[in-house]
Amino acid sequence: MDNTPQHHTDDSGTRLPGLWTRTIGELTLTYVPDAGVAMIPTRVYPASVEEDWSAHRHHMTDVGHLAMGCGALLVERGGSRLLLDAGHGRISGEDTEHFQYGFEHVRNLPESLASLGVDPAELETVAFTHLHDDHSGWARPDAVDGPHSLFPNARWIVGEGELRSDDHPSGEQLAGQKERTTSVTDGVEIAEGVRAWSLPGHTPGHTAWVLDTGDGRRIVAFGDAMHSPVQVLHPDWEVVLDYDRAEAERSRRRLVDFLAQDGVYGFGVHFADQQLGTVDTTGRWRPWNDRADAR
Ligand SMILES: [Zn+2]
Ligand SMILES: [Zn+2]
Repeated sequence: MDNTPQHHTDDSGTRLPGLWTRTIGELTLTYVPDAGVAMIPTRVYPASVEEDWSAHRHHMTDVGHLAMGCGALLVERGGSRLLLDAGHGRISGEDTEHFQYGFEHVRNLPESLASLGVDPAELETVAFTHLHDDHSGWARPDAVDGPHSLFPNARWIVGEGELRSDDHPSGEQLAGQKERTTSVTDGVEIAEGVRAWSLPGHTPGHTAWVLDTGDGRRIVAFGDAMHSPVQVLHPDWEVVLDYDRAEAERSRRRLVDFLAQDGVYGFGVHFADQQLGTVDTTGRWRPWNDRADAR
């Protein structure tokens, strides 16, 4: 693998993500922030060693932690809207795992939605890439007072296999799971121009959501198939929570190939503030920060 340092003109990878909105074709996409996390890189990627990270300082904080964000993607087309993933939810900012160093601006998702004028009670659909805590947060019954979560009326959509809680430890119950959850197979269209793409491995039912922009482009919200831009160069690096390492690596390689095509962009929810981007001809993540690109 190529470890040549990248020379960026800014240090954008080190910053925790804020709310942004982009109009791309018929779609309006908004990143709804919930938490930022500083990760201990060699614990997130056990296959990596300290020296590997010297080439990736622009994705790290000044003291050497890998910057990541947690949140949700609001997808709007015409009058319809849906949310992809539901943030981290009920964390204090102090309950870190061994691979996390610390949290910042935690539990922002409700105020982020409020600032957009989105009433969570009116949201009809939340689709999940998978049900780990940092993606299902505000959809769990204990997210707020009352048993219906922040989204009392939404239907839940997950990839087939994701509810087999005996297969992996992420079997957190969604609020009203039995009554309102639909699981879908690869290729199913859950809303106009929004299709499931089964990318298992991180969890059994891990699913990316492929958004058709209506003008010939596609955007893939790929959840935890990759956790940072660094993994684009190292698809062989498993992530600490991968359920099936070999399958996760196969899925990552398929994803990187897909993102290298013309007109295909990715949304990495954990990619600090380089969430939107593509894989360039050198096989690297190229953040799509130039607003002139958006039509
Ligand atoms: Zn996960
Ligand atoms: Zn995650």
